[in-house]
Amino acid sequence: MRKDVPMFFDEKVHVTFDDVLLATGLCDVDSRSEIDLTTQLPKGYSLGLPVMTAAMDTITSLDMARAIVEEGGAVVHHRNQSVNARVAMLRELSEHPEVVEKRAINGTAVGLGIDVEDVERLLDAGANLLCIEVAHAFMPAVAETVNRIGPMCKQHEALLMVGNFSSVKATRWLREETDDLVDLVKVSQGGGSCCTTRIRTGIGKPTLQSVIDLVRSDTPYTVIADGGIRTSGALAKALAAGACAGMLGGMLSGTRETPGEVIYQGERAYKHFRGMASRDAKEAVADEIKNVEGISTLVPYKGPVSQVLEQIRDGLQGSVASTGFENLRQFQQGAQFIRVSKSSQIESLPHAEFLKKDPSYHQAADA
Ligand code: 5GP
Repeated sequence: MRKDVPMFFDEKVHVTFDDVLLATGLCDVDSRSEIDLTTQLPKGYSLGLPVMTAAMDTITSLDMARAIVEEGGAVVHHRNQSVNARVAMLRELSEHPEVVEKRAINGTAVGLGIDVEDVERLLDAGANLLCIEVAHAFMPAVAETVNRIGPMCKQHEALLMVGNFSSVKATRWLREETDDLVDLVKVSQGGGSCCTTRIRTGIGKPTLQSVIDLVRSDTPYTVIADGGIRTSGALAKALAAGACAGMLGGMLSGTRETPGEVIYQGERAYKHFRGMASRDAKEAVADEIKNVEGISTLVPYKGPVSQVLEQIRDGLQGSVASTGFENLRQFQQGAQFIRVSKSSQIESLPHAEFLKKDPSYHQAADA
């Protein structure tokens, strides 16, 4: 069959986190702990730490929300729970003095079917961010939902986030269909740690490239990087590309504050972690199981999430200092990438372990 389209194969190399490193710069701060990691969001909101919890039912709980907000991050409650349950959590958190004082992001995911009465209840309970959360947001039902609930968000001065997208074409479409109701877009598709979308459907785009493409386009939206951020270094790269914050699932998984019990297997402790499109998660909320695009697994128990967040903060401060900037804002605007080879990717990982297996590495050099 002949293809009558001008180009059906985009030859650009689309990069992801491991394909690049941050170029170093003159470090002019006495201590990296001085580095300010505040990031600005639309409508006068800000984050003291540029992270959001993934709206997943094995990640976000009230305990997680409290811990994240305490460190300056944002919470997005998942939608595998009733509106009543979300209202209770939002209310509880919005009465927490820290949330009020910091104007912290107390958000919740919503689906396409959400009705306006429920949206009103969520907003009245203190939600200051609603996230229309679907696997593929480039579809008319998303625009319809934005147009239905967007004016309500505006009235409450709440942020409206929509995801997930992975192309400039999609976000231009969103803008045409929805005027200026959307504040933030979440990218990309298929990169999540529990995700099987790329395997099952063949669609997707590397998360870092989606951020790069969008930030360098004419988009009016603030960009959130979502999916595949496995380390503080990867988060730093997403921010260096111009993302305002990173949404984290896998990195927060297994921590004390995630929903569910610690599971012991012999001496080892684990917690359950599952994709929201996994069979497991779908069985919990629906009778009909279709479009399974996620996995369910056990992950090692990590202890308090504050330790993970502390490592993230320390890592990000190191990124900003070593690239020659004084704060995150400067870093987001000025950081530079270098592309690296496959062998540099191996060099980037700790490799002293190889010696244990094959001492000839060093002996050969000594000979
Ligand atoms: P992570 O930080 O774990 O790499 O990625 C988290 C993101 O993965 C979530 O915010 C969401 O966008 C995406 N995600 C969560 N569950 C699933 C799933 O079951 N399937 C797919 N395709 N994506 C998922």
